[in-house]
Amino acid sequence: RAKAEGRGTFRIFTPAMDEEAEARRVLERDLRQAMDDGGLSLHYQPQVEGRTGVLVGFEALLRWVHPVRGTIGPDIFVPLAEETGLIVALGEWVLRAACREAAGWAQPLKVAVNLSPRQFQRPDLPDRILAILAQTGLSPDRLELEVTESIIINDMARAVGILRRLRSYGIRISMDDFGTGYASLATLQAFPFDKLKIDRSFVAQLGSEPQAAVIVRAVLGLGRSLGMGVVAEGVETQAQRDFLAEEACGEMQGYLFGKPRPIADYAAALEHPADVAARAAGPRLALA
Ligand code: C2E
Ligand code: MG
Ligand code: MG
Ligand code: MG
Repeated sequence: RAKAEGRGTFRIFTPAMDEEAEARRVLERDLRQAMDDGGLSLHYQPQVEGRTGVLVGFEALLRWVHPVRGTIGPDIFVPLAEETGLIVALGEWVLRAACREAAGWAQPLKVAVNLSPRQFQRPDLPDRILAILAQTGLSPDRLELEVTESIIINDMARAVGILRRLRSYGIRISMDDFGTGYASLATLQAFPFDKLKIDRSFVAQLGSEPQAAVIVRAVLGLGRSLGMGVVAEGVETQAQRDFLAEEACGEMQGYLFGKPRPIADYAAALEHPADVAARAAGPRLALA
């Protein structure tokens, strides 16, 4: 074992540790490469109004097709990029691509983009986002940023300041995976979130675990009391949808309405005429 004896000591790694570290280095190098050579793309998952099922926007989700290993999920490469710091460049790539693509949509629906805690450690984050909006021509009120409770670990006051600035531009902020982290109710009070996204682990248990319904109702009540909207993620069944609609959940997202796919697959939903009447009626998604 490596001992912390300062300079001149040998660090002894087991072959397994060595191999793992090497595999990660290679993966990071390939990911960096993918940002330049077209290996990355965004898929989009529909978000619908809870009451009506009308399409209101899409969440952008990053996809990586590795030239040799094929598709690698964000659950693998996002944590890696977070550890190495590559997430800052990667996150900027995602923001730029999502804003550029959304600016070209047939209707001005909103686009939700996931932000990593590491991106929050950069004081220039609001400026960089403003620059991307200016470059792509996307209106700030069409951009929604999804953050997790972990943005507060380092410097809560600074994170609040950054969120306030972003909101002052008209950008909306939602708290992702709500209920799985360690945010206290005081955090919710201090943070200017527009929306809470109920984690899909709770939605998945609706109908099987009676406690899940209690928790989902409580989050909906919390959102109402704090003036925040609530989005349910991971809605897969009509029964889950019915329960959530009954409980007046504002927005829903999940395989029931559509899986994450290239935006071209949702062209029909987006290609409705942009006149006011048609927009009020909204494009309806066929239930999958
Ligand atoms: P997330 O932001 O909570 O995204 C929702 C995840 O749930 C997505 O997985 C989505 O495909 C999946 N999902 C949505 N509806 C359903 C459903 O009905 N059933 C099931 N079983 N799953 C559903 P995905 O695309 O694999 O992304 C996983 C996580 O990776 C995301 O969780 C997010 O934390 C992270 N991620 C993805 N793209 C980005 C990105 O551009 N930047 C950052 N920082 N993180 C990202
Ligand atoms: Mg998300
Ligand atoms: Mg989520
Ligand atoms: Mg999640």
